[in-house]
Formats: sequence, C-alpha cells, structure tokens
Amino acid sequence: MNLWTVARRMDGMKPSALREILRITERPDVLSMAGGLPASEGFAVNELRAACEAVLCREPAAALQYGPSEGWAPLRAWVAAHLRARGARVDEGQVLITSGSQQALDLIGKVLIDPGAPVAVELPTYLGALQAFDLFEPTYQGVATDAHGPLPGALAELDPACRFLYLVPNFQNPTGRLMPHERREAVVAAARGRGLPLVEDDPYGELWCDAPPPVSLQALWPQGVMLLGSFSKTLAPGLRLGWLVAPPTLFQKLLVAKQAADLHSASFTQRVVHEVLSQGVLAQRLPALRQRYRGQRDAMHAALTRHLPPGCEWQLPAGGMFFWLRLPPGCDAQALLPAAVEAGIAFVPGAPFFVQAPDPRCLRLSFVTLSASQIDEGVRRLACILRG
Ligand code: PMP
Repeated sequence: MNLWTVARRMDGMKPSALREILRITERPDVLSMAGGLPASEGFAVNELRAACEAVLCREPAAALQYGPSEGWAPLRAWVAAHLRARGARVDEGQVLITSGSQQALDLIGKVLIDPGAPVAVELPTYLGALQAFDLFEPTYQGVATDAHGPLPGALAELDPACRFLYLVPNFQNPTGRLMPHERREAVVAAARGRGLPLVEDDPYGELWCDAPPPVSLQALWPQGVMLLGSFSKTLAPGLRLGWLVAPPTLFQKLLVAKQAADLHSASFTQRVVHEVLSQGVLAQRLPALRQRYRGQRDAMHAALTRHLPPGCEWQLPAGGMFFWLRLPPGCDAQALLPAAVEAGIAFVPGAPFFVQAPDPRCLRLSFVTLSASQIDEGVRRLACILRG
C-alpha cells in the first residue's frame, strides 16, 4: 500500500545535478573547481561575533522575537540606500528581506508562474533558478546569448504570454559574463517594447575585478524590473540573508507569499548583519576580497593558457566566481567527469544549465575555492584528461 501520495508537481523533480556533483567533490583529496563556495577566509568572523554580543546585550527581546514579514526596517533602509548609491531607483518600502536570494526565486515562482505558463531564461542560466521555478511547472523559452548577454533581437521570438525573463547581468552563473551598458539598454528597450517584465538576479555585482559593473536594469526600467541581491557572496552564505526589490504593484503579493513560506527571515540574523554593515565592515573588507578573487582569477587564466590543448575557448571573466570553458569539437564535458574525479579534480558540466539546445562541450570552473597553486595543478590534470 502506498501510504503517502506525492503531489504531481514533484514528478520529474530531482536533486540538482550540481548538488550531486558537490557531494562527490567533498572528498578531501579532490581539487574541486565545481562549487562556487565563497572563500571562508573572507568571512568577518570577529566582527560577526562582536555583533552577536552587541545585539543580544542591547535588544535581546526584539532580536529573539517574531518580526515583520517585510524584514527589519533598518536593514531594509540599508539595502535601499546601498542600491541607490549604485544608481538603482529604490524606496525602502519596496525592499523585501528574504532568506537568501534563492528564496526570492521561490517567491517569484509562487507569485508569477501558473502551470504551463511560459517563462524566459538565458541560454545558459543559473541552475538553482530553474530548480526553484520548476516546482511551479512553467514551460521554458530559451533566449539566445553571445559574449555580452542576451541578444535583444531574440526577445522578439518569445511567446508574448511569457511571464518574465530571468537574467543575471553581472558575472553570470555559469558563464561569468558581464552585460555592457549598451546591451542593458537594448535588452530593456526590447523588453519594454514587448511588455515583458524582467527578473534581475545580482548576487555577484560587488565581486568585480577591475571596475564596478554598469548600472542595473532596474535603474533603467524601475516598474518593469524586479531586482534580487544577497549577502551570501559579500558577507557569508550561511547567514541566509538576501533581498528582493519589487515594483509597488507586486510587493503585496510577494509579501503574502513570504509570510506563508516562513513568516519572516530571522530577526536575530537581520540585526547582526545590520550591526556589521553599520560599522562599515563591508566597505572595509570588499577591497581585499576583490583582490583575492582577482588573484585567483588571474591564476586560473594563466593555468588555462599554459596547460590546455588547442581548440579550448574561454573568456576572462571581469568578476564573479566562474570561468566557462568550451572544449574542442567532439568533446563531451559530462562524459569526462568520471575520469576527472578519478584524477582528483571536479568541475560542473555545462549541459544542465541550458533549458534547450545544451552545448555538451561546455563546463563551469570556479576559481574562488582553491589556491593559485591548486588551481594550476587542477587545470594541469584537466588538460591531461583532455589529451586522453
Ligand atoms: N542566484 C544566483 C545567480 C546564484 O549563483 C546563487 C548562488 N549560487 C543564488 C542566486 C542563491 O544565493 P543565496 O540564496 O545564497 O543568496
């Protein structure tokens, strides 16, 4: 007898391919370029410890009590000011504090996706967004891209009923690419012309190597763009705090979905994060974090150039955490993975990041977890496998 009947929406839902790979690569002997785990040396441990102490001394009852579903007002105000300083047009009343930006993706799915509704995504796109949206059973429409992001002309081919286009303009996961300003303007103009709203996910924007990214899509079209952000890559992912900026017309719906999901994000953590932010910890630490990641990025670029056989293609990412590597014709990244793990390295095959027309030659390499010498050794082993 089958005691539990599982909802139909779970048909075909499987653990993310990425999580499965990460499980294998947790072995200490594996040099993993698979997961995008922020460098733990960058975590502000002492500052966070002092902030916990300060919050519990100053306002223990409020910090440990239920709080508003929108988020704690001073943290919402900090996020709004932070985004305004980067050109976005945000009032603090539009900021919803979420449990990581992953929760924002889930709330967007709940509020905007009916079963069978078309949703547009970049080719390739962030796997975790697909996993979040999958539960609401959309039909995906892939948007063709080049080195600068989605092709504005490709928006003309989308089903006019598309609920939104999801994109990651800054140092995209998985490709690492950055949308230049002109492309942002062209994509926004095309989307606005078709009445296609945009969901702009920006967890990596602060991790630039040489220059800050151009202004966000939200700044170009405030009513038509929802903007997501996170403290995961700048402070620490274990805090599970992010935000969503929504146009006022949509905010109440998202708030109801947030309330139903978890009432609110942790009162205590919000105060602790606000405490370190108001001490300027982010501003103090980001330059060193950027320098660290730039060094690792340069080490990976040098290693790829030194070791890889001819026919491999990649671009130098201007920030973020990832290289997107295209192997020579005839290669299949997925098929190479067992040999890679055997050789003590790991990467993420690119095919699962595509909702259609997967490119089996692509793979994602993270440069933030390993040291420069480990990166060199990891890429050397990858090159050995490619040479057969
Ligand atoms: N969006 C993108 C593009 C990501 O790469 C990630 C994390 N890998 C997330 C959202 C989720 O991040 P978090 O929930 O930790 O904020």
